[in-house]
Amino acid sequence: GDRVQGKVAFITGGGSGIGRAAAERLAREGARVALVGLTEDHLEEVEQSIQAAGGEAVSIQADVSNEQDIKEAYDQVLKKWGQIDIVFANAGINGTVGPIETLEFDEWNKTLQTNLSGTFFTVKHAITPMKDSGGSIIITSSINGNRVFTSFGMSAYSTTKAGQVAFMKMAALELARYKIRVNAVCPGAIDTNIDESTNKKPELEEIAIAVEMPPEGEHPLRREPGTAEQVANLVLFLSSDESDHITGSSIYIDGAESLIH
Ligand code: NAD
Repeated sequence: GDRVQGKVAFITGGGSGIGRAAAERLAREGARVALVGLTEDHLEEVEQSIQAAGGEAVSIQADVSNEQDIKEAYDQVLKKWGQIDIVFANAGINGTVGPIETLEFDEWNKTLQTNLSGTFFTVKHAITPMKDSGGSIIITSSINGNRVFTSFGMSAYSTTKAGQVAFMKMAALELARYKIRVNAVCPGAIDTNIDESTNKKPELEEIAIAVEMPPEGEHPLRREPGTAEQVANLVLFLSSDESDHITGSSIYIDGAESLIH
C-alpha cells in the first residue's frame, strides 16, 4: 500500500502493543517509522521485523517523561530523514490500581509524568519541524478519558486520559494555522501486555470501593477485547490525507463498550 508513502512517523511506545501495530501498519503503507521507547522495550525487534517486510524503521531509546530525551529523539529523526509528518503520542502506563485514600503521590506523579507530560513533550517538540509542511498528530487516550467506570480504581490513569483529550483540543486549535491536525484515539479494552509491562492489577476484591465492578472487558459487539491491529487501522486513517478534514476529534474504538459501562 501507499497510503502514507513518503511520510515520516514518530511513534512513542513503538516497541509493543498498539504502538508496534501502528508502526508496522504505517510502514506497510510506505511510511518511514521511528520507534521511540524505553531501553527495556523490544524496539530493535520491531525495527528488524519492519525491515524484513521491506519497510524503513529506526529505533530510538527515549523516556517520554524526560523532555531532553524527546528533543534529542526528534533531532535524531530529523538528521536521518529530514522531516516529521506523523506523530503518534502513544506511550503510556496504567499506573497503580487502588483507592485514592492510599494512593502514594509518587505513584500518582509517575502516571502523570508518563502519560500527560510525555504527551506534552512529544507534541511540543513536533511543532517546529512540522509547522512548514503540516502533518498529523495522534494521541492515544482511552474511553476512560470520558467514561470512567471501566477503569475504576485507576484514578491517576483516568485523569491523564481525560487530560490528553483536553490537551488534544487545545493543540488542534493552536496548530490548525500550520495545517497540523491533532486527534485522539480512545480505545476500550485492547488485548496488549499493558498490565504486565507496567503495574499489575491487584485482585479487584482488594480494592475497597463501594461500587460493583462490571464484568471485565465486556462490550456489546464482542465478548473479547479488541486488538492492537484494529486500533492501528484507525491510526493509519488519521495519519493519512484521507482524514484531512478531521482535527480536534477524539474517536472511540471500543465495540460500544463505553455505551454500557
Ligand atoms: P503497552 O504496554 O504494550 O504499550 C505501552 C508502551 O509505552 C510500552 O512499549 C512501554 O514500554 C512504553 N512506555 C511506557 N512508559 C514509557 C516512557 N516513560 N517512555 C517511553 N515509553 C514508555 O500497552 P498498550 O496497550 O499498547 O498501550 C499503548 C497506549 O494505549 C497507552 O497510552 C494506553 O494507555 C492506551 N490504551 C490501552 C488500552 C488497552 O486496553 N490496552 C486501552 C485504552 C488505551
